[in-house]
Amino acid sequence: MDATVRKQKSDDKNLELTLRPSVWGEYIGQEAIKKNLSILIQAAQERKDPLEHILLHGPAGLGKTTLAYLVAKEMSANIKITSGPAIERVGDLASLLTNLASGDVLFIDEIHRLNKTIEEVLYPAMESRSLDIIIGKGPGARSIQLELPPFTLVAATTRIALLSSPLRSRFSGGTFKLEYYTIEEIEKILRRSAAILGFAITPDALRMTASRARFTPRIANRLLKRARDYAQVHKQDTIDENVAEKTLELLGVDHEGLEEVDRQILNVLITKFGGGPVGLNTLAAAASEDIQTIEDVYEPYLLRLGFLERTPRGRVATPRAWQHFGKTPPQIKLL
Ligand code: ADP
Repeated sequence: MDATVRKQKSDDKNLELTLRPSVWGEYIGQEAIKKNLSILIQAAQERKDPLEHILLHGPAGLGKTTLAYLVAKEMSANIKITSGPAIERVGDLASLLTNLASGDVLFIDEIHRLNKTIEEVLYPAMESRSLDIIIGKGPGARSIQLELPPFTLVAATTRIALLSSPLRSRFSGGTFKLEYYTIEEIEKILRRSAAILGFAITPDALRMTASRARFTPRIANRLLKRARDYAQVHKQDTIDENVAEKTLELLGVDHEGLEEVDRQILNVLITKFGGGPVGLNTLAAAASEDIQTIEDVYEPYLLRLGFLERTPRGRVATPRAWQHFGKTPPQIKLL
């Protein structure tokens, strides 16, 4: 990675932390989830029990990690953060679990990437707070059982379908699906972020940025930061419609919020494969992207926009997608 890109990424990470809501009231939208969680939290507090285990799922950038932090804060609990791929061995999980204090929240992001052997160690830990580990190898190996302090596992995934049912069923507090945000909610998030960044933003610029942010807070904030850079470089202290438009143009974000890779995926589908159906492998290879990124980042938004459909035989571009590129969809695809 080039040094400028690396610096940009770390600046973005710092800003993401600055913009992350730190109190419940600043977390915009997801009302149904917030209501459910509030009841769970209050009930647990009244019983003086730790909160039950919770699973959050939905596309990247919708606020799963933020919610985990807020839940811990509401419970006045410490939070430990890790992720599925970071837990490489059973010993890693054992050390995380045995270092928890009573009432702590353990947040495991990307839990679908947890290896199966490790997942099995998690079951009794979640169910009965018991950690069963095998020490040694071969005939001398012995199994020991440790009792863990009461804790809450909050897990997040972008790919709920990859989770085994035994794992899913152990989230006794519930499984919550985060929804894409409305444009109005994204506007509220942007208004708050602009105030934190110390930049004024006009209503036109706000609406334009919000409507191209893929209904996703992280993307909205990213677009806002780039608009702020543009304004700053042009010695303006207000992000107006012109700044917003120029920024989006520079970033290659079109009026539907599509980025270069989205357009490439649809283009390949339409021009090379007559609109599909095409298997995901073929599509990923033709668009030079890895399958997981297409499934996690690009496809959910294209499905949400109604530009793409998943069929048993592969991905199909809808007539709306054809029209977006100024092309007439073949009649047969309309049937
Ligand atoms: P995820 O874990 O789902 O990928 P994050 O919790 O990391 O998403 O959210 C990404 C960023 O988006 C956060 O840093 C925060 O600034 C912003 N954000 C997410 N959800 C909300 C929300 N409901 N209200 C305000 N800002 C939000």
